[in-house]
Amino acid sequence: MDLDLSSYFSQATRTYNNPSQIARKVTETWARDNLYCPRCGYPLEPYKDNTKVYDFYCDHSDQRFLLASTSIDDFQLKSTKSFPYNYFPSKLIGAEYYTTIRSLEEGVFPSLILLHYDRAEMEVQDGLFIHRLSVTRNSINQRKPLSERAVRRNWVGAEILLNNIPEIGKIDMIHESRIIPKETVMSGWTSVERVFKGDLENRGWISDVMLVVDELPEVFSLDDIYSYTSRLGELHPNNMHVKDKIRQQLQVLRDQGYLKFVSRGKYQRMGH
Ligand SMILES: [Zn+2]
Repeated sequence: MDLDLSSYFSQATRTYNNPSQIARKVTETWARDNLYCPRCGYPLEPYKDNTKVYDFYCDHSDQRFLLASTSIDDFQLKSTKSFPYNYFPSKLIGAEYYTTIRSLEEGVFPSLILLHYDRAEMEVQDGLFIHRLSVTRNSINQRKPLSERAVRRNWVGAEILLNNIPEIGKIDMIHESRIIPKETVMSGWTSVERVFKGDLENRGWISDVMLVVDELPEVFSLDDIYSYTSRLGELHPNNMHVKDKIRQQLQVLRDQGYLKFVSRGKYQRMGH
């Protein structure tokens, strides 16, 4: 992996004038040449321009041995320049809202690749994989509808709230111009798949409890987490047994090595 974008910029500026087209071309070709699938480690395959809904995919098969694959993972690339954020914005612009929710429900929402680059330095400075399983209903927000006079009058946009995705689901591959070892990235990816199981509702519970745990001190009590009961209840209005659900998620998190039970009613968050 090479974080230098200068050759990509000089190539793209020969073909395009529009800055956003240039940025798109640069990050897309850089990603094609440098990124790997966080699950199996093979290079990501770009979708052909005229067929694509998403940007990259991996079928996790080793082409050299022609192993049959059982599944395909889709990836969507989103990139930001340093100015004005110097990292990632907390909200990413998504697609149409109802389409996005439907793709979550049907389990076809893609994993995301986030790149942050510096235009002046011509360098990729931060990169994240966001595992699709860690994105839940609570991570998607409805944007304000377009005005009456807008052409697409009934079109409602979605935004992806990075703060409503638990830390475990956001896997660093580049951090402040430092490349994270591939094995670390791949083991992070596997942890997400161990923790986030079941349907969207199940994953929503895990995610929402995890977001609370991420906010609490490293060692916390059952009462600490119970103080979020009403907030969690609002997120899951059809569930009457919020405290039971909370304890059930803590059990799952413990079984997956994300939490340790220190003593009766005391928990410790483990590194991951
Ligand atoms: Zn793969």
